[in-house]
Amino acid sequence: MRITVLGKSPSWQDAGGACSGYLVEEDRAAMLLDCGNGVFGKLRERRDYTEIDAVVLSHLHADHFLDLVPYAYALIYAPRQQPVPVDRWPGTPTPARPVLHAPHGAGETFRQVCGAWGPPGLIEKAFELREYGASETLAIGGLRVRFAEVPHFTTTHAVEIAPAAGGGRFTFGADSRPAAELVAFARDTDLLMAEGTLPRPEREGPRGHLTPFEAGEHARDARARRLVLTHISDELDLACALAEAARGFGGPVEVAAEGAVYEL
Ligand SMILES: [Zn+2]
Ligand SMILES: [Zn+2]
Repeated sequence: MRITVLGKSPSWQDAGGACSGYLVEEDRAAMLLDCGNGVFGKLRERRDYTEIDAVVLSHLHADHFLDLVPYAYALIYAPRQQPVPVDRWPGTPTPARPVLHAPHGAGETFRQVCGAWGPPGLIEKAFELREYGASETLAIGGLRVRFAEVPHFTTTHAVEIAPAAGGGRFTFGADSRPAAELVAFARDTDLLMAEGTLPRPEREGPRGHLTPFEAGEHARDARARRLVLTHISDELDLACALAEAARGFGGPVEVAAEGAVYEL
């Protein structure tokens, strides 16, 4: 299984970067985990978007799904996606329509967003939308995808992706405030990508994110083999974030970088 970081920014992009997006490939299966702003262009640099079998969204915040809009336009309007009469051009491939796995309520959210300027059903026309619940397990090609709900400002899921036939586990913590649920879900994982959004805990209101130190603590408590910090801005002091995460983890930590590849 091969994981490529397409975007690791928090809710605003790094200079030249993209928000949440990860390409996961195994044999001929390809899936996109999150599709935040900027991710579609980064995907196009690495893989044909018509070859993506499924898109999985951790939650319905803009930085995790906004690039479904340009992706949907491509799937509907790209010349090669135009249906042609098969009797006149036999052998022409049918247009791609990837499956889109998104949390309950996604259809309503997408219709509100796209309805602001045009046909509300844009995303549902381009993708085959399937709304999932936390208890479901998905099969995407040879990959098995599991979820655990984690506490954030909206219904949010940590996501585990692993080969169904057995092999290394990749756990994506999504966005979460400190949570025992995340530790339990990531137990003994091979690779934990955890958000290290905040230089310090939120000063007011309910908490919704982790500091790098807290990400390190969660990885340590879960006994994760490897910790990669993500959802972290280039406007933060990354050396300090790394040191803090390593202090919490008790071992070396990396920061996700756009284009970085992890093989499990
Ligand atoms: Zn986010
Ligand atoms: Zn979020």
